[in-house]
Amino acid sequence: MNLIKFFIISFLVALSFFIFSVDVRAEDLLINNNNKKQDFVNKNINVKNLTSSVFNPTFNSFIFLKKNQENELPASELYEESWNTNFLKAYSNITVPDSFSIDVSGFVVPISGKVTSPYGFRKNHFHYGIDIKLKEGDTIRAAFDGKVRVMKFDHKGYGYFLVLRHYNGLETVYGHLSEFLVTQNGNVKAGQPIALGGITGHSCGAHLHFEFRFLGDAINPAEIIYLDGLSLKDNKFVYIKNKYENQCHFEMSSLKNSKS
Ligand SMILES: [Zn+2]
Repeated sequence: MNLIKFFIISFLVALSFFIFSVDVRAEDLLINNNNKKQDFVNKNINVKNLTSSVFNPTFNSFIFLKKNQENELPASELYEESWNTNFLKAYSNITVPDSFSIDVSGFVVPISGKVTSPYGFRKNHFHYGIDIKLKEGDTIRAAFDGKVRVMKFDHKGYGYFLVLRHYNGLETVYGHLSEFLVTQNGNVKAGQPIALGGITGHSCGAHLHFEFRFLGDAINPAEIIYLDGLSLKDNKFVYIKNKYENQCHFEMSSLKNSKS
């Protein structure tokens, strides 16, 4: 009887060694799981180079963003080939992940100053960013490393404005500028002067209108930075899609969606 027990135990131990010694990568398992978005998964990725990653239930895969590949479009794993240089909102055809963990540790304050208007509902429209008081001609800096996607004039709303796409998956918007210091499609480093502040467009008094966006959805800056002092709250920001869904619908139906 003892001999039988010994053989059974030996067999189970040998079996467990066999199972755990087989080199099965999690990514391989995920890819084989009938994954419609398997292009998101880079099997040869070097984990040390990752800026942001998250397990995404929608795609049943991990999404990894490569770090600073300056010859490529930033965060192309999320934004695919989309690179619209005319419009801020250009991602209606792209599926937004349910959640996404974003490395915001490289954040640089675009301009120090008092926040004169927060994100949220105003009398007759929604305010998608924050307003930071400045003097006309003050230097505005890039919030993260990235690339200049939109560089336009919007006389009814943002005035002269910039949209930067960043390698961490976010986009940032800078409005009411008086002068651009960058070029369309040019690469920018965090903290690099990108423009001079002003009063262009729909603006009462000189200020910077500043937005964080993720795949077109405006994020409340107060979730990422302290409005008093504009310093980072955490090195990581987790975007959660449902949190912004209602506001998103409002955005679609709103006609006055780009004011100051
Ligand atoms: Zn504003």
